[in-house]
Amino acid sequence: MSRVYNFSAGPSMLPLPVLEKAQQDLLNYKGSGMSVMELSHRSAEFTEVITEAEQLLRELMQVPENYKVLFLQGGASQQFAMVPMNIFTKSKKADYVNTGSWSKKAIKEAKKFGDIRTIASSEEDHFTSIPKFDVSMIDKEADYVHITTNNTIEGTAFREIPDTGNIPLVADMSSNILSEEIDVSKFGIIYAGAQKNIGPAGLTVVIIREDLVGHAPESVPTMLDYKTHSEKDSLYNTPPTFAIYMAKLVFEWLKNLGGVKEMGKINQQKADMLYQYIDESKLFTSPVQKESRSIMNIPFVTGSKELDAAFIKQAQSEGLETLKGHRSVGGMRASVYNAMPKEGVEKLVAFMEQFEKNNQ
Ligand code: PMP
Repeated sequence: MSRVYNFSAGPSMLPLPVLEKAQQDLLNYKGSGMSVMELSHRSAEFTEVITEAEQLLRELMQVPENYKVLFLQGGASQQFAMVPMNIFTKSKKADYVNTGSWSKKAIKEAKKFGDIRTIASSEEDHFTSIPKFDVSMIDKEADYVHITTNNTIEGTAFREIPDTGNIPLVADMSSNILSEEIDVSKFGIIYAGAQKNIGPAGLTVVIIREDLVGHAPESVPTMLDYKTHSEKDSLYNTPPTFAIYMAKLVFEWLKNLGGVKEMGKINQQKADMLYQYIDESKLFTSPVQKESRSIMNIPFVTGSKELDAAFIKQAQSEGLETLKGHRSVGGMRASVYNAMPKEGVEKLVAFMEQFEKNNQ
């Protein structure tokens, strides 16, 4: 078997023990004679899967009692619309922080539903930092404030969760959920596409404070109302059963590894290894300002398009896959999500050192 170290931004690597377990269960799940994919979503076996998945996620993230955990579809992109459709409860005004391509998409979508202000932005410095903002900049009438905690394309992240006072904070946490400890009680809504730190694509996790559920106007389609999914424990219609099962296996793997605190330490070590080398290197540089660096997505450049292309090609032949930066940024990007083992980062750094020597 030859597996590679896959540095893709998502869908991305899954832990090997998770894939092996899924393989074992594939044809006959727990003696049912069926694959999880073939089980009714109302069966006892699947009820156990979805219940355990929710319990594990609650435990891993220490989700308070007054929050609902929803397993939805439509990707994080659908949340760009569902959030304003559901929680424009009073003023239909919301404040957004613009930290990159995904924030921009969230802002564009929300503008279809209300009065959206961008209260802070790092667009002027090409999104290489997280802009400073404080509670005094927030419109007191705003129904919510929206941030993207980790910017997958640009490689920046909020190192501290901003205080938004009484205004609910909504976070797109697609690319750093479960990567380090966070205090869920600081948020009104957290949402994330699964395909980075949770499992396969097709599942979207929403963690929502109960008082924010049940405000959607009548005109909102049933499937886009948080209340529909909240009342039916994510089983109003057929959920993405196999993706939920895979997420459950990932949550078990993460728990066995020591939970999110331990994962956070490992992720910091992996990121430090890579940044330390980049900072010492005479060939590679990081375009991101130090205090805003993501520990999940790490872009770097040589300054030469030809060398970047040669790097990506040679890396691939060494089993280091999908290192090409996003088309809007160029260069390289190493996405080192939870499932990327330390050995993968060590191998990448060793390859970068060799490449630098060969291209002095
Ligand atoms: N937000 C962020 C931060 C992302 O990284 C992505 C996907 N890469 C999205 C939103 C869009 O997610 P989806 O493809 O699940 O709609």
